[in-house]
Amino acid sequence: MRQHLIIGNWKMNTTLADATVLTNTIKNAVHDLEVDIVLCPPFVWLVPLAEDLEHAPRNLKLGAQNMWFAEKGAMTGEISPLMLKSLAKYVILGHSERRSHFSESDHLINDKVHAALDNNLIPVICLGELKKMQESKKTRGRPTRVEIKSDVTYQLKNALKSITSQKAEKIVIAYEPVWAIGTGNPATGAYAAAVIGRLRNVLREKYGHLIAEQIRILYGGSVDSENIHEFLLQPEIDGVLVGSSSLKAKEFISICKKAAGRE
Ligand code: PEP
Repeated sequence: MRQHLIIGNWKMNTTLADATVLTNTIKNAVHDLEVDIVLCPPFVWLVPLAEDLEHAPRNLKLGAQNMWFAEKGAMTGEISPLMLKSLAKYVILGHSERRSHFSESDHLINDKVHAALDNNLIPVICLGELKKMQESKKTRGRPTRVEIKSDVTYQLKNALKSITSQKAEKIVIAYEPVWAIGTGNPATGAYAAAVIGRLRNVLREKYGHLIAEQIRILYGGSVDSENIHEFLLQPEIDGVLVGSSSLKAKEFISICKKAAGRE
């Protein structure tokens, strides 16, 4: 049985004071919940927040929002897995904002997944289609480049290139349709579960049933405390990746409590 996982991606938000209050408020509210929770603040707050969470409950961990794949070197402005591994347990990779604003390719994301696993960090591999898929659409002729890049199974296979089954069981996948991120227009639970079912089939083909059943696959895109049940009622969906609602303590705590069946 996969325990629910809730990840808060704060993106480029919060002052140090905001980050400290948010973290401590969440810490005090979630200690007895049966749900795994990960907070992903901006890089610069990882050091002070790691101190704040030194005696935190075991279900509350820190994650980074990105990283470079090399351990050190001439890479101005980047952060390496070596720098992160003592501060964070998880790292978000391939978020749609990295893919679109920073032109991150599937190949680069695959390098980062390898680096994360080699350094004992759990990669949260984000993928999602650019436009809503029309279930009835029949493809005529060869798919376009944009259609191929938007194909979530293609993104997943590329992200997992040469990742062994032994390492694969540690990964987390976040299915985040790009059209649902930050739009207030989430996918329906049924739509997300259908896509996640297809992603799990890719894992089954690549790693076999046992490992595919261990890997957590989350949904992300305009999740809040009102619509969270819609996703968690679907057995295929193992949790959520939350953007804007993770910046409001009350809202995020309510999401965590609902995921733990406590509200
Ligand atoms: C995200 O950025 O990964 C995300 C899911 O954002 P939001 O919840 O704001 O749509």
